[in-house]
Amino acid sequence: MTVSCSKCKKPAITYIRYNGTHLCHDHFIQYFEKRVKKDIKKQGKTQSNIKIGIAVSGGKDSITVLHIMNNIFSKRANVKLHAITVDEGIKGYRDKSILPAEKICKKLGITHHIVSFKDEIGITMDEIVSKNDELGACTYCGVFRRFCLNTKSKKLGIDKLVTGHNLDDMAQSILMNFTNGDIKKLARLGPHTKIQPGLVLRMMPFRTIPEKEIALYAIINNLEFHDAECPYASQALRGSFRDIVDDLEFKNPGTRYSILNSYDGIKDLLLDKFPPANLNKCPKCGEPTSQKLCKTCILKKRIL
Ligand code: SF4
Ligand SMILES: [Zn+2]
Ligand SMILES: [Zn+2]
Repeated sequence: MTVSCSKCKKPAITYIRYNGTHLCHDHFIQYFEKRVKKDIKKQGKTQSNIKIGIAVSGGKDSITVLHIMNNIFSKRANVKLHAITVDEGIKGYRDKSILPAEKICKKLGITHHIVSFKDEIGITMDEIVSKNDELGACTYCGVFRRFCLNTKSKKLGIDKLVTGHNLDDMAQSILMNFTNGDIKKLARLGPHTKIQPGLVLRMMPFRTIPEKEIALYAIINNLEFHDAECPYASQALRGSFRDIVDDLEFKNPGTRYSILNSYDGIKDLLLDKFPPANLNKCPKCGEPTSQKLCKTCILKKRIL
């Protein structure tokens, strides 16, 4: 039996479990885009003469965020979009995901910049993993990726850097930092409304959108993306938190959003208690750091 859309009589293409609505193709798109636009507004004014960078890995979240940012901003004469892909050097994974990123940028006429670990850091992720360092692949990958995105964004004069982080990512990060006792990091989770000198403001248009809804939106818009998991993902602690959040959401629909909402409710208190440290310039690379040497230079010293 075909189920009808809760808003019109057309056949529903999806059921939104956490609010009990069935939605047809058009109403799903409307529901999706309305929340994204609302969140973009909430995350600060997009003034004219602005350069927006979009971090595009080639996976569904980043390809979809690029598509939607292009829909919203490409007609505004004073907004310039740039796509930035970080090539970590993971054979059989990142080389494949760069292809759909290149393709969509070409189609939309968006300048695409590729920054590689090999060029910027001097080593690929595959080479790092072969050294079997006890810190694990993702520690290196996360720090080096942030370095690449920050330095490239500054070189390009980017005012805001958009990432495709979704509601599932947010709920996992909040729980993970909380469980690890990393309250300072928890206080600094993006998006940011203010940023310290030397860093680039982050914007997360999908922070309230569940991963599955992004996948559906990408499919119905015929977006091509790379759908595979990084071969080193099993080394990430995040996997355990993904399972926990999925299980909680299954048993109690809406949990992911409640986690995010609770976080938003205490974020200002956290920032009052843990104000951002004054940053120095790393003497080696010039990037901002609260310590003597920045994390990138510390990890480089350890692995190179
Ligand atoms: S799973 Fe780890 S190694 Fe793979 S891309 Fe993500 S952070 Fe990098
Ligand atoms: Zn409908
Ligand atoms: Zn440094």
